[in-house]
Amino acid sequence: MKIKSISLGYIDIPLVTPFKTALRTVNSVNDLIVKIETEDGMSGYGEAPPTAVITGDTKESIEAAVRGYIAPSILGMDLDEIDAVMEKMEKSIAKNTSAKAAVDIALYDLYAREKGMPLFRMLAKGDLGQAKTRLETDLTISVNDTEEMVRDSLRAVGQGFRILKVKVGKGGARDVERIREIRRAVGSEIVIRVDANQGWTREEAVRTIRAMEDAGLGIELVEQPVSGHDFKGLKYVTGQVNTPILADEAVFSVEDAERIIEERAADLLNIKLMKTGGIHNALKICDLAQKNEVKCMIGCMLESKVAVSAGAHLAAARSCVTMADLDGPSLCSADPYQGGPIYRGPDILLTEESGIGITMVPVSFETLS
Ligand code: MG
Repeated sequence: MKIKSISLGYIDIPLVTPFKTALRTVNSVNDLIVKIETEDGMSGYGEAPPTAVITGDTKESIEAAVRGYIAPSILGMDLDEIDAVMEKMEKSIAKNTSAKAAVDIALYDLYAREKGMPLFRMLAKGDLGQAKTRLETDLTISVNDTEEMVRDSLRAVGQGFRILKVKVGKGGARDVERIREIRRAVGSEIVIRVDANQGWTREEAVRTIRAMEDAGLGIELVEQPVSGHDFKGLKYVTGQVNTPILADEAVFSVEDAERIIEERAADLLNIKLMKTGGIHNALKICDLAQKNEVKCMIGCMLESKVAVSAGAHLAAARSCVTMADLDGPSLCSADPYQGGPIYRGPDILLTEESGIGITMVPVSFETLS
């Protein structure tokens, strides 16, 4: 089936509360939406958020990459040759992983729709495990004053979330205090993941993580303690502490994943479609992780339901994915879409609709020519 047209539009959804990490503060999800149609009139949807501080991709650069490079390279290609389409897109422009992810998601959505299959069932082919139909996501707690973080954590637990992903990385000693108070408030049953978002130096990371271990705070894992560029630092921290270390900003490409696994620079990998450039490369990382018995998390940026649901389908399909950080829709104040996985508190329920499942995207599209 030939790719007939590619259209672009924007979705804007205010967040329930501002999202704050060691790197930034954001008030709404304002993402590019891509719609791709085949000759038979079927369509697929993709999405990309401008996360300049992490991916380097801005609203303007994402749109320019799709408009000027990616769309012209794949228009008219046969969707049945999906791997060839993905390779062509990959070569059309270097980097620009968010733009590629938006188009990749729309293409996989469309491809699975053409086959009349839910995307997760299609992606599960070749995996030895059983596809999951339910995922449990954590909820992000933004970095703030300790009292506010405790309040946010208690509210999350009250909403039924059993796994908290707590953002830190703003002052090592204060970070230990933040986690100690949250643990005291939520009790021992709640799983706490700590994400430093590159906020510590390697020495500070070791000191802080050891202090959390000594205090018996029961941390499941620590995510990206040091700069994503500091590969040696990541490896050093991983070797110095008992708590599992999850690489996030240090792993974008398949090559990054390969190096981290080979050199044991981290224990776990956080795969995000906006870093890999979409599902095509994310599957390659999953294959690699599976072969080396490395567990993965599927995470998201500040994305709404289109892109987050693509991540959910991937997480459901692959057995190496044991953790889901797919709280984008939970952070949004509204769900403007129809169809797709069901987000109910911490639970994400996959449905048997074909493709990603989203059937209505309330965006005014401009078709590229
Ligand atoms: Mg992270």
